[in-house]
Amino acid sequence: MCGIIGYIGKREAAPLILRGLHRLEYRGYDSAGIAIVSGEKLFAVKSAGMITALEARPELKRLIGNIGIAHTRWATHGEPTEQNAHPHLDCKGEIAVVHNGIIENYMELREALQKRGHTFNSETDSEVIAHLIEESYEGVLEDAVARALKLLEGTFGLAVVHTGERKVVAVRRSSPLIIGIGQDEMFVASDVAAVVEHTSRVVHLDDDEIACIRQDGFSVMRLSGEMVEKRVDKVEMSLSQIEKKGFKHFMLKEIFEQPASITNLLRGRLKDGKITLTPNLGLARFERVIFVGCGTSWHSAIIGRYLAENLAGIRAEFEYASEFRYRKPIVTNRDLVVVISQSGETADTLGALREAKKRGARTLGIVNVVGSTISREVDGGIYLHAGPEIGVASTKAFTSQVMALLLLTLYIRQERGLENDPELIREAAAMPAKINAMLDNLDVIKNIAREFASYKNFIYLGRGINYPVALEGALKLKEISYIHAEGYPAGEMKHGPIALIDDGFPVVFIVGNDAQHEKVLGNMQEVKARKGRIIAVCSEGDTDAARVADYCITVPQTSPLLSPILNVVPLQLLAYYVADAKGLDVDRPRNLAKSVTVE
Ligand code: GLU
Repeated sequence: MCGIIGYIGKREAAPLILRGLHRLEYRGYDSAGIAIVSGEKLFAVKSAGMITALEARPELKRLIGNIGIAHTRWATHGEPTEQNAHPHLDCKGEIAVVHNGIIENYMELREALQKRGHTFNSETDSEVIAHLIEESYEGVLEDAVARALKLLEGTFGLAVVHTGERKVVAVRRSSPLIIGIGQDEMFVASDVAAVVEHTSRVVHLDDDEIACIRQDGFSVMRLSGEMVEKRVDKVEMSLSQIEKKGFKHFMLKEIFEQPASITNLLRGRLKDGKITLTPNLGLARFERVIFVGCGTSWHSAIIGRYLAENLAGIRAEFEYASEFRYRKPIVTNRDLVVVISQSGETADTLGALREAKKRGARTLGIVNVVGSTISREVDGGIYLHAGPEIGVASTKAFTSQVMALLLLTLYIRQERGLENDPELIREAAAMPAKINAMLDNLDVIKNIAREFASYKNFIYLGRGINYPVALEGALKLKEISYIHAEGYPAGEMKHGPIALIDDGFPVVFIVGNDAQHEKVLGNMQEVKARKGRIIAVCSEGDTDAARVADYCITVPQTSPLLSPILNVVPLQLLAYYVADAKGLDVDRPRNLAKSVTVE
């Protein structure tokens, strides 16, 4: 996490990079800081809290200069105080560093540096980098950075400036970093959103590449010293995509964008009852598919297994990326490992991908951000084309992931010579219209949210393909409203959680219109018998569920395999309206950040 940005050009750097930094705030908002090179001097201002707190600092006015770097932090080492905010400086105040990632061997480096006389001003792991560069500096910043880097273990995206040189040096290992190429000006940033208002030409840095960025151009070398020719990519993102467009929060805007994001995903991929995906990985030959992800993407991974078993008739598993990479997974070249990540930068998922490749598996990415690290390292992939997702709680990426998984598993089915069910294909194409219909009338959900906003605990229950939807609904609520919420398979309730049920413990049931419908109704009765209050998400016309539930949110009827896409929408909205009723910062929930680039 953490957002970093750097600028070199003719314009005043400070206002420009602070504006760009706001676009990165989804990546962390514990503290913020900026350093500007002005003549032969370096000026830094830092503040605890969000970027607006930094902008309120009167010292900012003194930051005059055309070279600068800035940072918005998601703390890993050291509290989110002003002292621990980046940039970090060397002892002489000549070098400033912003860092995204974790330096795993910082303790020993710090002790050694202290013994050699360096003074530390923060508790962060990052500060060692500034002092190491200071020690290796012999007049050329990128060379000093290269020497310092050889001592670092862990992950990093760095931007570094020195008072004596008109350049910004940027380097990465596992944390994302792009260079933005402008007219007589250059940028470096964690993400293209930060530069999109200035340029549409970007370069994606790869691991252990050191970029030396000047006003009129840039060069990139490997850690080994060898120069690299980098490809310049055209950015697809537009400025309007990363603005709120009249919505109170990005999360609400993104919930409303789901009909469009699913339309974009389906475009060109669903034709005449057939699925078209490129590139062709020869998917029919795999014996097993393993879906891997974290958080919301892990919930998609669970759905992936249901779809793969049901549609493609292939052995399937799902895994937490952070667990998969550190086991000794038995994976061979007969396995397809599908990694799912909105940002394409999730550190755990990237680690799992690399582990799977090392063990000989073929890999496929389901990723939203074009050009991201995961998208570049997989053997093949499906881009979601959902547009930038800025709200920290994922919404449109989830529904698009589920639809992408449906396409993928239908495609494997086709490749295996099996016929597709035309009704399922028709239903997939109808999803955008059905979500639109739901978004037309939100009064029921708003009323339920108002009524339940003060409760302390919730449990979400679902069965089969709607069990991961229960997990996702609970995750949304806890992420943004800070209410304790658990998701559980409805059939498991009687094996433990039922002990919690009383009239103060609301239960949200996701009632699928499928073979397990009666079983879920039975579970609802069990809750009712214990005075639990039931909110049910059920299909239109499901009078049985409506009769048992205290509150009922209906969704249009669809095929059971597509039901997660419709059922999750009211749960996203319920979480949103509960958090909003509590007056919380929906887009920037405490302790969280989007694009989790640390382990
Ligand atoms: N480890 C650094 C810190 O705590 C950077 C954190 C990050 O990139 O998430 O300040």
